[in-house]
Amino acid sequence: MELHDIRGVGAKTEELFRKVGIETPSDLIRYYPVGYDMYTAPVPISTLSLGAKSAISGRVVKDVVIRRYQKVTLITTEVSDSSGSIRVSWYNATFVTGMLKRGLVWIFRGTVRESRGVRVMDHPEIIAPDKYAALQDTLVPVYSLTKGLSGKKIAKAVQETLNAGLPDCDEYLPPSVRDAAGLTGEKEALFGIHFPKTMEDYKESRRRLVFDEFFRFILSLRLLKERQGELRNAFPMKRVWECETLIDALPYTLTDAQKRVWREIEADMAGHKLMSRLVQGDVGSGKTVIAFLSMTMALSNGYQAALMAPTEVLARQHYEKLTALFEKAQLFPGRAALLTGSVKAAERRRILDGLKDGSISVVIGTHALFQEGVSYNRLALVITDEQHRFGVRQRQALMEKGETPHLLIMSATPIPRTLGVIYYGDMDISVIDGRPGRRKAIKNAVVDLSWKEKAIHFIEKQLGEGRQAYVICPMIEASEGLEAANVHDEAAALRKSLPGRRITMLHGQMKPEEKNDVMEKFLRGDSDVLVSTTVVEVGVDVPNATVMLIENAERFGLAQLHQLRGRVGRGSHQSYCIFMAGQQSEAISERLSILRESDDGFEIAEKDFSLRGPGDLLGIRQSGDAMFRIADVTRDGELLKMASSAALSLCETDPGLRAPENSTLKQAITSYMDENNRNLIL
Ligand code: ADP
Ligand code: MG
Repeated sequence: MELHDIRGVGAKTEELFRKVGIETPSDLIRYYPVGYDMYTAPVPISTLSLGAKSAISGRVVKDVVIRRYQKVTLITTEVSDSSGSIRVSWYNATFVTGMLKRGLVWIFRGTVRESRGVRVMDHPEIIAPDKYAALQDTLVPVYSLTKGLSGKKIAKAVQETLNAGLPDCDEYLPPSVRDAAGLTGEKEALFGIHFPKTMEDYKESRRRLVFDEFFRFILSLRLLKERQGELRNAFPMKRVWECETLIDALPYTLTDAQKRVWREIEADMAGHKLMSRLVQGDVGSGKTVIAFLSMTMALSNGYQAALMAPTEVLARQHYEKLTALFEKAQLFPGRAALLTGSVKAAERRRILDGLKDGSISVVIGTHALFQEGVSYNRLALVITDEQHRFGVRQRQALMEKGETPHLLIMSATPIPRTLGVIYYGDMDISVIDGRPGRRKAIKNAVVDLSWKEKAIHFIEKQLGEGRQAYVICPMIEASEGLEAANVHDEAAALRKSLPGRRITMLHGQMKPEEKNDVMEKFLRGDSDVLVSTTVVEVGVDVPNATVMLIENAERFGLAQLHQLRGRVGRGSHQSYCIFMAGQQSEAISERLSILRESDDGFEIAEKDFSLRGPGDLLGIRQSGDAMFRIADVTRDGELLKMASSAALSLCETDPGLRAPENSTLKQAITSYMDENNRNLIL
């Protein structure tokens, strides 16, 4: 079945689907909503808060006023209930005038703003009270969209597909596993995630789908492991003095945590077993130098080493730092190379030849490192930086290029240790705790929308002093039903309010080269404000950027906000982070204020986790780990544990899944592994 086989999906829609990453019907049903719009009970007018979408039951108490301007027709009236009254207005919607007869009662649902000191409900939906009662408390899916593609269109296509019955949404979990974990059926869960009838239905559905993702992941890790057994160290190494030379050349001394982690790695690579280690450390904890030391050890032992970064910009930064350090320590002259997608053909040729004949022994780059045509001479060590951003896929591709090398993964994802042990399977984990150096602490502010003008003014002042700023939005484009700042509109607004400043945009729908250009431009100081989604999160260093304004901060997890904040405070200037909530709420400001009080990613993640109630599960899902669409390792810790023990006990009772009652499962897992085999950590 293809996309255009779905009823109502033509070539145009197919094109739009592709744009958001939906290639097949199976992608479509796994294109989960990023949130839900809920028709909540009407509230008294006097309790309306700014910026929040709410419903009121109001009587029209004034005659409608229609004002025509050049391009807009503005319609206003006033409605009231026993608690108070509020102005309501619509743009270019003359059809509403017929409904707004004085004395009639309607449900008005919209967002309240303040305009010249007067509260206004902007462009609300008007719904008859009895109709609203029927809608009340239902959840309407909200999808991540692109221009021309509506949420309704996606919802309809999903419905069609699910009704038609896709072959790959047949139940594959053995009843024993399903029953033990108390899970709903897969098909029910898919319906329920897109069209939950109740909050309960949503939770049950999500629970099942999260379980599935973890279960398949862990089970395939297990099966792979069964097949391969333990891997021996094919690249034995000795400890070398060059590492000490490198340490001496650093402009600082290593912290105790860095020394400890380095000793662990050194012992691994000198041991009998192949290294498979995760180095976990908060942003700014100093992971890079650990990577450099590991590479030095491999090189001194006569091997090659490769460091893969998620973006070209980050790769270049690492490369420049490494070559500067090697030069200072007078080590390995001319043996390092930078290989990214934008390296020109002749240079690429030179690097590929060098890697093949061994004259280049250390290479830093993006996934270009492991593309077709790249071969290594004695590649003994592969390091990936900020791995949670990788389509872990590339990691495996590289394993297929000869002897399995030692693997070191650097991550800033704060996963509680107990969960990390399960999630990272058989990897050893080193933790760099604490943070080196005495940089100026970032000053934080937690504010709401009413602060917007001041925030812009503040940014303007910083720009005036020659600094740069980040503005982060949760969305790329406006999305119906979802009140959240988006990159396009925000950039347009900033161009107006900051005339003469160079405003650039960055987001995930841009091509990699485009993203790279934008990032390089910002890095060079050729852009003043970078308006971006969370794609900036990954490790780059722009010391001149001193302000970050995060819009709709309530939409993000605290851990992620902390990661984002790590993009400022990297130079000698005082830096600032403004967390702006899209609505006024005690709970939201309490949660965000954790960021003001703590600067420790692990602590923040734990607190965030314990603070999140079930009601918070409806936030926008962030692109977390490439392995999972819906599961969140921190948030869904309990399910991770359940899925893990279910997978392990299954492997114990039926190694290799040979029993007939597990044949459907085996088939499903085999095709999952084929699809994802390069995704799996060894
Ligand atoms: P991350 O763990 O986020 O990758 P980096 O490796 O980029 O962190 O280090 C952040 C900054 O801290 C860099 O500028 C680096 O030079 C510096 N740094 C690393 N280790 C130390 C140390 N022991 N003392 C002082 N500064 C350090
Ligand atoms: Mg880093």
